[in-house]
Amino acid sequence: MEEKEKSDFIRDIINDDLKTNKFQRRVHTRFPPEPNGYLHIGHAKSICLNAGIAKDFQGKFNLRFDDTNPSKEEQEYVDSIIEDVKWLGGNFEDRLFYASDYFEQMYNFAVTLIKKGKAFVCDLNADEMRLTRGTLTEPGKESPYRNRSAEENLDLFARMKNGEYSNGTKTLRAKIDMMSPNINLRDPVMYRIVHDEHHRQGNTWCVYPTYDWAHGIEDSIEKITHSICTLEFENHRPLYDWYLNELEVYHPQQIEFARLNLSFTVLSKRKLLKLVEEKHVTGWDDPRMPTIAGFRRRGYTSASIINFCDMIGVAKRDSTIDVSLLEYSIREDLNKHSQRAMAVLNPLKLVLTNYPEGKTEDCHAVNNPEDEASGTRSVPFSRELFIDQDDFKEVPPPKYYRLSPGMEVRLKYAYIIKCESVVKDDQGNVIEVHCTYDPDTKSGMAGANRKVKATVHWISAAHAKDVEVRLYDRLFVKENPDETEEGKDFLSNLNSGSLQILKNCKVEPMLANAEAGQGFQFERTGYFSVDPKDSANGTPVFNRVVTLKDTWAKIEQKYR
Ligand code: ATP
Ligand code: MG
Repeated sequence: MEEKEKSDFIRDIINDDLKTNKFQRRVHTRFPPEPNGYLHIGHAKSICLNAGIAKDFQGKFNLRFDDTNPSKEEQEYVDSIIEDVKWLGGNFEDRLFYASDYFEQMYNFAVTLIKKGKAFVCDLNADEMRLTRGTLTEPGKESPYRNRSAEENLDLFARMKNGEYSNGTKTLRAKIDMMSPNINLRDPVMYRIVHDEHHRQGNTWCVYPTYDWAHGIEDSIEKITHSICTLEFENHRPLYDWYLNELEVYHPQQIEFARLNLSFTVLSKRKLLKLVEEKHVTGWDDPRMPTIAGFRRRGYTSASIINFCDMIGVAKRDSTIDVSLLEYSIREDLNKHSQRAMAVLNPLKLVLTNYPEGKTEDCHAVNNPEDEASGTRSVPFSRELFIDQDDFKEVPPPKYYRLSPGMEVRLKYAYIIKCESVVKDDQGNVIEVHCTYDPDTKSGMAGANRKVKATVHWISAAHAKDVEVRLYDRLFVKENPDETEEGKDFLSNLNSGSLQILKNCKVEPMLANAEAGQGFQFERTGYFSVDPKDSANGTPVFNRVVTLKDTWAKIEQKYR
């Protein structure tokens, strides 16, 4: 097999294994989520890595639900995970597996270890076990039940399985070494008693395997070659090795890499669940969530997420990636592919006093300057328009070149106009701007090239469609949301301005028919996408995907 362009320490290991024929030149990876929450951008890194390796090496990639814990797992999570993995291009073909389908096999493996004298039923409760486990500097104490005979253990384990004991009263433990400097090897628990309904197995089982017992076996059963996981499992590898060696079964190679941490973001499922349950967000797919479902709803493309994962690569050491890099990646992708449109988010009426009443003409707007083939479209122009409030100032600050009394600007794709006067309400707010237009300055006319310092976008009032626009900002105000004052948690760092809803936005008529998920660049404003949940035919709701530029200038600077 030829060596591929992408290079990292994991691919190096795989290339070496291919050279030494370690797995008969097979490459088989997997993504093993626990269905206890929606997938987040950290999981995307793992999916892109595992599925990417399988693709690059013409190998195989499995999706396997690590559903060994009955109490927190739900079908909703299973469904969302399948959708997300597919969306990110994880091609598991027909290889969708559930660890719970291996329960019988795992149980039989446990019986094998008991028969070998390598596992025992222990009556210590959780507290007692904690007290006898020892510490990093002190060895543990052996359980008084450690030397039960194989016969007794087989009998007790069968009775555990048959439901004779209540939760927490007995465990099955591996008999390894209470003196081991690696605490994971101090007679770890293999089975707990849990009388709880499992999302797929119902009430068939009341003994459930621990993660450490189950995980290596799952990879072995599926003949995974490279079992790629995050760094916190490095210390568990000797235990997985011990289990597989004692069972004398197929043995994958475990490789650890650093998990993704993102600034201004939390990626722990426990914390994301808290945000959902306490209604700080509208759900797992709230467009402010760092979940794949949230990003998709907001309008991120899968290509931009995959590209982000490629950019950050994989490393052996933990670090925090700046979230502006993810935003950069989405901006790059949307810039290339988004249809342009005009939208006025905070409308201000503008009247062209010398333009004929009742007249409408077409202006030709470029659909996408990055893509010549996308052509142009007609945008209706008339006497009364809307411009954005930001584009007018009665008293302009220094270097403000947009519209103000006596100043000229160009209306994009249309004419140069000059501000002549304003109309105010009782409170003195400007509610209308009156201008004259120069009929000679439209493109194709003599004055088309006349230069003015600013160009602003607009919408013809008679043709405008009213839409709702949702502006999102980062969910947390702190780079590290877990950095809090004494006694507070990450919720104290929530950004109270992370969602701003604008109900009265004016957009081009064609946008009324935009479809769910369709993305646009609103000129001079940002990238927007049609919310798939809250839009109806003819009344789209637009989510801001990302601003045109990074407004968090400080972060940008730091990143450079
Ligand atoms: P959390 O710590 O948020 O609960 P988890 O690791 O328990 O996440 P799993 O469902 O077990 O969640 O994760 C499935 C796979 O995704 C694992 O192989 C894990 O290593 C990987 N993964 C989870 N979080 C990250 C991350 N932040 N960066 C890279 N990979 C991750
Ligand atoms: Mg986990």
